Amino acid sequence: MDYKFKAEIKQVLDIVVNSLYTDKEIFVRELVSNASDASEKLRFTMLKADKPVAEDSLKIEISADEKENTFSIEDFGIGMTKDELVENLGTIAHSGSKAFLKALEESKGDLTDSLIGQFGVGFYSVFMVSDKVDVYTKSEGEEKGWHWSSDGSENFSISEFDKKERGTKIVATLKPEYKEFSSAARIKSIVETYSAYVDFPVSINGEKLNTRQAIWLKAKSDISQEQYDEFFKFHFHSLEAPLDHLHFKADAPLEVNALLYVPADNPEKLGFGKTESEVALYCKKVLIDPSPKNLFPEWMRFAKGVVDSSDLPLNISRESMQDSGLTMKLGKMVLKRFVKHLSDTAKNNAEKYAKIFKKFGHFIKEGAAMDFEHRAELSKLLRFESSLYADGTLVSLEDYVSRMKDGQKQIFYASGPDRATIDASPYIEAFATRGIEVLYLYEHIDSFVLGHLGAFDEKTFVSVDSADAELGEAPESAKGEELSAEQLDSMKTWIKDALGADKVSEVVSSGRLVDSPVAALNADHITPQMRAMLKAMNPDAPLPAPVIKLEINPRSDVIKNMAGLRVADESLAKLVLEQLYDNALLSAGLLENPRAMSKRLNEILAKVKA
Ligand code: ADP
Ligand code: MG
Repeated sequence: MDYKFKAEIKQVLDIVVNSLYTDKEIFVRELVSNASDASEKLRFTMLKADKPVAEDSLKIEISADEKENTFSIEDFGIGMTKDELVENLGTIAHSGSKAFLKALEESKGDLTDSLIGQFGVGFYSVFMVSDKVDVYTKSEGEEKGWHWSSDGSENFSISEFDKKERGTKIVATLKPEYKEFSSAARIKSIVETYSAYVDFPVSINGEKLNTRQAIWLKAKSDISQEQYDEFFKFHFHSLEAPLDHLHFKADAPLEVNALLYVPADNPEKLGFGKTESEVALYCKKVLIDPSPKNLFPEWMRFAKGVVDSSDLPLNISRESMQDSGLTMKLGKMVLKRFVKHLSDTAKNNAEKYAKIFKKFGHFIKEGAAMDFEHRAELSKLLRFESSLYADGTLVSLEDYVSRMKDGQKQIFYASGPDRATIDASPYIEAFATRGIEVLYLYEHIDSFVLGHLGAFDEKTFVSVDSADAELGEAPESAKGEELSAEQLDSMKTWIKDALGADKVSEVVSSGRLVDSPVAALNADHITPQMRAMLKAMNPDAPLPAPVIKLEINPRSDVIKNMAGLRVADESLAKLVLEQLYDNALLSAGLLENPRAMSKRLNEILAKVKA
């Protein structure tokens, strides 16, 4: 008997078939999901009726026939009665298509492609690639089977059909241009991508596919550490077990099951550039998108895993997925839990957290700087080496603040390529003699992050070479015999004149220096790191010379001797001063032309007499 599709179905079909659904292959995912749903429904119904079905009777058999140019899928599930066939495949009964129609109405028939992609049209997606679709089905408990057939235009027909086994078989006669879907190899790869975690065994042309358990949907207590590790290795093709995982379930505001991993390796370490997020989005075990954009902020790209939500429309297209408010909401929920998990790990298992930070600290730093929403938590997750621990122990900003001296208002940091270089800089000694802790920053991103944060717990970050550093008085023990105030004043004026205004903006006597005779303070706030970066970006544009405030140490023998040398041999005194100045620039990382130094040194050496 012939039936007409309801007017609205006709509309849906037209749009599905003619719109540019970019991923034609998703029809396979839809049909496999329906087969799985039907099997699940049967299992459930029979269990309720106290007649459990034999597990091995539930399976999904796919055939791809290149000669006939067909794709077929058969399940042994709940099947459909005649009325159900009319209802389910001939009217809009299910939610995705209903929502689709509602939007269609609201837009007065003028749906853009992007809107179309937002709604599931499930079964009808098979018409994208088919000239004709035949459905053979027998409902559980019915004697007769039925044959539904349609070319996806105006009509469908239903006639009796002698089907032995319960369940449904769908045969799609492919459009010539979609012949690819009659290839078993092509179908296999599609099923493996989207449906690797379907609960029932799947075969293609008799060959069984390896499906896996969707462990993220199970209870935590039912999964061993080995199973978590195994899943990670299988799913992400990794040889190594992950460093950590977070598995949780939530019901509000969205239903979600998530399993996130911190991998063992950071692929960006090898310099291959930015990686893509590998937290895949699933809806009830069926893949929606292996690498959804905009689910998480960029810094999260080191995490891997699965986020499964039954609140997502299954056949949402990838393009519209990315702007969907639902994705954002889901991402937020999961991210909040992940950040909390990291914080808990940092608190309760510092050793494990240190391992994670050593591998992925870069991403957490990026997050602290760029992810405003989570900045407060992420800045607590930052770790640095510090002047207090020579063995590379990492400290947190909270640790630092808890150890601050009475009256200390700033958090001090020193940048340099490694610990030895920073230790040797003249700036550190002042902090060391006062027992003030200094954070050691080895990477460019570190000072960038602190610059973005500005402060932690209302304590501003200040570089040890900054003129803004408030150090307080030196302890008595560090004080020694020094030049008189008069000598010092005349010395400062002489130094300023001798070096000239383009080299120093100011000369001050310093309470902070202990062993070093002089130190160059960066007074223009362009850090050496920033200079290096600006220069690399634009090698031809000359940078303004650094503004230097020169500190001299009135207790240093070199400075004291210079007071006498000025009188005895002023030209030698000037040479020594210039040398001291360059030494200071060198320590500050601000010396641009070291070549002049060796010539001058030779000149000075030539004056050394026995
Ligand atoms: P959804 O799966 O979201 O409900 P579909 O368009 O994929 O929407 O399917 C429409 C309806 O057709 C299903 O809800 C189900 O009742 C019925 N159906 C589809 N495929 C099968 C099948 N293989 N076995 C039994 N019923 C099916
Ligand atoms: Mg479906």
